[in-house]
Amino acid sequence: MAKDLTIIIGGGLAGVTSFYELCARDKPCLLLDSESAVAQGTSFANGGGLHPSLPDPWNNPGIGRHLLASLFQRDAAMKLHFSQLPNLFGWGMSFIRNSRRGAYEAITRANFDLAEYSTRQTQALQQFLNLDYDAAAPGTLKLLRSAGERDEALRLADMLAEKGLAYEELDRAALLACEPSLRDAPDLIGALRFAGDGIGDARRFCEGLAAAAIERGGRMRLNTKVEHLLFENGKVCGVRFEGEEMRGTVVLAAGVAAAQLARPLGFNLPIRPAKGYSLTLDAAGQADCPKHLLVDPTPHIAITPLGSRLRILGMAEFSGFDRHIDPKRLLQLHRFFAGLLPDLADRLDWQKAEGWVGLRPMSADGRPFIGQSAIEGLWLNVGHGHLGWTKAVGSARILADAMTGREAEINAAPFSPNAGERRLR
Ligand SMILES: Cc1cc2nc3c(=O)[nH]c(=O)nc-3n(C[C@H](O)[C@H](O)[C@H](O)COP(=O)(O)OP(=O)(O)OC[C@H]3O[C@@H](n4cnc5c(N)ncnc54)[C@H](O)[C@@H]3O)c2cc1C
Repeated sequence: MAKDLTIIIGGGLAGVTSFYELCARDKPCLLLDSESAVAQGTSFANGGGLHPSLPDPWNNPGIGRHLLASLFQRDAAMKLHFSQLPNLFGWGMSFIRNSRRGAYEAITRANFDLAEYSTRQTQALQQFLNLDYDAAAPGTLKLLRSAGERDEALRLADMLAEKGLAYEELDRAALLACEPSLRDAPDLIGALRFAGDGIGDARRFCEGLAAAAIERGGRMRLNTKVEHLLFENGKVCGVRFEGEEMRGTVVLAAGVAAAQLARPLGFNLPIRPAKGYSLTLDAAGQADCPKHLLVDPTPHIAITPLGSRLRILGMAEFSGFDRHIDPKRLLQLHRFFAGLLPDLADRLDWQKAEGWVGLRPMSADGRPFIGQSAIEGLWLNVGHGHLGWTKAVGSARILADAMTGREAEINAAPFSPNAGERRLR
């Protein structure tokens, strides 16, 4: 047994970035994942957006009414399923409690700091390690279709501008000059442009970063499902898998599976899955592809250019751990794309489009849990929800700083598992 081995459970964005950051600081590390490669869970085909411009949690004021109405709307972008009401009761109460304007704004500001820090660190890491993951920094266009949408988008942007978010407002003519591919979208009145946002393929990033961690001495064991955490004398002291025990300090980065692994310790980790979809198309050689990350706030759908591919993503369904791909949801994404980019939609091969679902690990208060838990020997990097790519590198830095006794470079207190009312156990 290596005396100070750190065992990381989970090889998605949260786990792989933690793995790299700890290995880069000479910590002996072992990454475990139940799948045969890294990033096979929620980090596989996400939207690819590194967008500090969209740090607001989904539990915004008014979300309670919206979710209740969604029980009766089959195609709602954010949908609550009747079958999940018993499983979501306690979590849901906290989700709604945190949607009060004061809490919502404080969480949005804290998330922005982390997202901004993380995006810059991701870009620095890409250059330092020369990682190849279709990284680009074209910026985000938040599309606007009505005066109401514009007011709401401006309210958020102005609030974050006080913290350093740069944005510009584009009317329709300026929008089309900046993104000519949108010329056939009839009802856009303009957009907000966030030039500091980036994009990149999270799965390929994880593959490159895991290799860099291994070069720095890290060990990785795939096809290895952790059954439970070892708990002795009030401390977590390792993990058990396939009849074997491995001792060390544990970092729980298991995405939506984290709550289940923490439960036997008496932790009720408030993380629940929110199912989302993506559809990836080959657009090699096609003219008039969008250059920006396009976000449409009302249907919660976005389009990301990833190298020679285009990815459409959206939806949030509270339907438990169900990973079934509903073809009607993919059709919704297709229709959205065709409404925005009709000419390009006619030229793409939709038969070959790759549909995917992922389960976002949603915390009840819209903030991830990063740092030491109330139990000695157990550290957390979980609950990044819909922003796990944007926040991954920054979160891992905060974790590694804390584990190696350094001060974090931003205020990490809002993400502490022990902060105020979010203290676990
Ligand atoms: C449709 C969609 C679009 C999105 N778009 C964006 C975006 O544009 N920008 C953004 O910032 N975020 C986006 N996200 C969110 C982001 O993808 C997630 O927050 C992020 O992937 C979560 O990473 P994770 O490492 O916590 O979880 P995961 O990637 O799910 O990793 C958890 C890992 O733990 C492993 N594991 C679980 N249990 C065990 C066990 N018992 N033993 C061993 N291994 C185990 C799993 O195999 C998995 O590999 C999107 C999500 C979805 C679904």
